[in-house]
Amino acid sequence: MPDWLVNQPLGVFGGTFDPVHYGHLRLAEEAADRLGLAGIRWIPAGQPALRGVPRVTAGQRLAMVRLATADNRRFAVDAAEVEAAQPSYTVTTLERLREADQCGPQQPLVLLVGADAFAGLPGWYRWQSLFDLAHLAVAHRPGFAIDAAQLPAALAACYRERLCTNPSTLSKSPSGGIVTFAMTQLAISATQIRRLLASGGSVRYLLPDTVIAYIQDQHLYPEY
Ligand code: ATP
Repeated sequence: MPDWLVNQPLGVFGGTFDPVHYGHLRLAEEAADRLGLAGIRWIPAGQPALRGVPRVTAGQRLAMVRLATADNRRFAVDAAEVEAAQPSYTVTTLERLREADQCGPQQPLVLLVGADAFAGLPGWYRWQSLFDLAHLAVAHRPGFAIDAAQLPAALAACYRERLCTNPSTLSKSPSGGIVTFAMTQLAISATQIRRLLASGGSVRYLLPDTVIAYIQDQHLYPEY
C-alpha cells in the first residue's frame, strides 16, 4: 500500500495573527476534529505579501500564537516564515513543507482558510499551484458566503472541479481537493480586537487571557 494511504493528513494554518483570537483557535480545533487531521501546524506570516504592515512585530505575533496554542497537543507552531527575510507566500511555504526533511511529498497536507481568504485566492502568488501541494479546507465565516456563483470565474471553476463532499477523501491523496466545513460561527476578527484595544474597550472572551496579558505587558495596539 502506498505510504500516503496510511498517512493522516496534516493541517497547515497560516495567517497574520495580529493578534491571534478564538476565531482562529476554533477554526483549527474544529478542522482537526471534522477533517480527521493528525495535527495543525500554525505558521504566522513574517511579512504578509498581500496586506499592510502588521501592527506589531513578527516576533510578537509569533509569541502570541505560541501562548494561545501552548496547551493543545494537536497544535504545533512553525516559526520559519517569521524568521525569513523575504515576504511570506503560501505557495513557497508549502514547497518548504514538501521537502524531504519536513513532511515529504506523500503526506496529505490540508491548508486551512476562512471563507474570506478563499474568495481572495486568485490574488495570491501562483495560486493555482497551491493545489499541487495541498488540499484546501474552507471554513465558513460570518459575513462571507462559500458560493461558487459569487466567486471570481477562475476560482469558481476550480472550486466546482475540486470540491469533495466527503472529508475522508483528503487522506487518499497528498493534495488537490477542496472541502468546506461549517465551524461554530464566531464573528471575531483581529481588526475588531485592535480597534477595541485602541479605544480602551474590553477584549475579554475574544482571545485567550494569556494573550491579553502579553498585549498589556508589551503595551501593544495603543492605536488602531
Ligand atoms: P484581520 O482582521 O487583521 O484581517 P483576521 O481576524 O481575519 O485578521 P487573519 O490572521 O488574517 O485574521 O486570518 C488567518 C485565517 O483565519 C484566514 O484564513 C481567515 O479567513 C481565518 N479567520 C480569521 N478569523 C476567523 C473567524 N472568526 N472565523 C473563521 N475564519 C477566520
